[in-house]
Amino acid sequence: RCMTITLVMMSALVSMLWQSKLVTDSQYHELLSLPIAGNLHVDPESIREASVDFGLIVREIPAAILRPSYPEDIATLVAFAFNESSIPLTISARGCGHSVRGQAMACNGVVVDMTSLGNKRHGTTVSWSRSLGHYADVGGQQLWIDVLEETLKHGVAPVSWTDYLYLTVGGTLSNAGISGETFRYGPQISNVYEMDVITGTGHFLTCSPNKNPKLFYSVLGGLGQFGIMTRARIALGPAPKRAKWVRMLYNDFSAFSTDQERLISRHERDQDESLDYVEGQLFMRQNSDSWLSFFSLSDRPRLMSLVTEHELLYCIEVAKFYDERTQSTIDKDLEMILKDLSHGPEFLFQKDVGYVEFLNRVRVEELMLQEQGLWNVPHPWLNLFVPKSRIADFHTGVFKSIVLRKNITTGLVLVYPMNNDKWDDRMSAVIPDEDVFYTVGFLHSSGFEDWQEFDLQNKEVLLFCEDNGIKVKQYLPNYNTERAWMQHFGPKWRAFQESKAQFDPKMLLSPGQNIFNYN
Ligand code: FAD
Repeated sequence: RCMTITLVMMSALVSMLWQSKLVTDSQYHELLSLPIAGNLHVDPESIREASVDFGLIVREIPAAILRPSYPEDIATLVAFAFNESSIPLTISARGCGHSVRGQAMACNGVVVDMTSLGNKRHGTTVSWSRSLGHYADVGGQQLWIDVLEETLKHGVAPVSWTDYLYLTVGGTLSNAGISGETFRYGPQISNVYEMDVITGTGHFLTCSPNKNPKLFYSVLGGLGQFGIMTRARIALGPAPKRAKWVRMLYNDFSAFSTDQERLISRHERDQDESLDYVEGQLFMRQNSDSWLSFFSLSDRPRLMSLVTEHELLYCIEVAKFYDERTQSTIDKDLEMILKDLSHGPEFLFQKDVGYVEFLNRVRVEELMLQEQGLWNVPHPWLNLFVPKSRIADFHTGVFKSIVLRKNITTGLVLVYPMNNDKWDDRMSAVIPDEDVFYTVGFLHSSGFEDWQEFDLQNKEVLLFCEDNGIKVKQYLPNYNTERAWMQHFGPKWRAFQESKAQFDPKMLLSPGQNIFNYN
């Protein structure tokens, strides 16, 4: 009886897939025989969810959603798509869909909802070895917040983070995974020892710097083009208990960037006199909603009048972590690190918070915005890496000119430097060719009717850079012509193409990036 019910359900599903034009005549019978038929979903709610992302700008309708119970279910789907020659069936892994330009979508293809693998299967396992010290094996679908929670039980934690922890391991490793820790520990992709990947031919491969190295380096920062990551082995360090969290205000950009660069120049991993986190932000009156909440109620009026007087303020945000061992010296250590910086002494603001509270700080903002109905709105973001040698020109031409003239910027504007030597050039991620470069993130949120205005500003920023020879690289890149992608990857383009031909020869994976599949 059970078998009859399963067969009836499967035929119903296949007839729905048939109606949604996913399957051709010959695929009909093959799909029926696939063991994953019961994990494919075509109901309107599942389709709607996979058609949008955090950006709420792009909308692509997939033919079906796969909710795998095991990584093997994904391999079955990819192998089916690869071996089925009549029509190419594109497949996109979707972590949380926190992309902003449809990168995790698959128009008429299958979106793989990675989170359905859950925590139980390929969750987080902490181990230790003589050569690696502590490390964690984590599922590609795992959220970083869950990785944190699990590793803390063992007194250890990943060393490199993103600002927001409700992102998946597979999603951030497909880009780079950056935050204030990057100057010291490198991006998250620099802290991976090994991965399990399902390639575009449906093969399961383990890769590391020694085993299948080409796949390993291609996948890291590879925008989902070479395989679906089901496990990553990541570096861990001792977990601190608390954080001294400091903000310092400047009204002069040159003083701000000089101090930032000085702070990131001490960047050896085991240096006690180094900070653990260095970021920075642009404060304006019109984006005060995004930065004012850090400061106490009594400080806010004076900051608002300051930002009115100067139009632009620059804020260096740093943190130093500590535990029982360093508790007695933390204040002195911090004072030593921050001495001789050129912000006014009255413009240093300090908090002492738990380590998890610090790492999970964006969640608080998210919940607040959710409550106000301001989280699920369009996000016309622009993230750039700007070479240090041109950051002053960028400041004059973009912040002082375009941003002030347009006067529309809302949301956070991040500005902070990183060290090139913490990145591995063999990986697919692309950064400027200078020892130090800045990340500049315009994290705009807009209304449903006016996101194009922000996009126009983004375009003007990019045009300014092009016209003035500022060789910026987009982070979380968004292009839709081959020429633009060639320019983006520069000398890495040929290797990127070769890896695609080797690991995903039918160009099935992550079509939403628009690198090999143009709409
Ligand atoms: P998705 O958007 O679902 O997928 C992104 C891409 O990765 C797609 O091409 C997808 O096909 C591919 N992919 C997903 N899973 C896998 C997998 N297992 N194997 C292979 N490919 C896969 N980024 C930072 O670096 N630092 C930050 O501080 C930061 N903060 C953010 C804050 C917010 C509020 C948001 C919305 C985003 C932030 N991001 C940040 C950007 C974020 O890292 C990327 O958007 C990332 O891709 C989102 O992860 P996701 O799991 O939602 O991936």
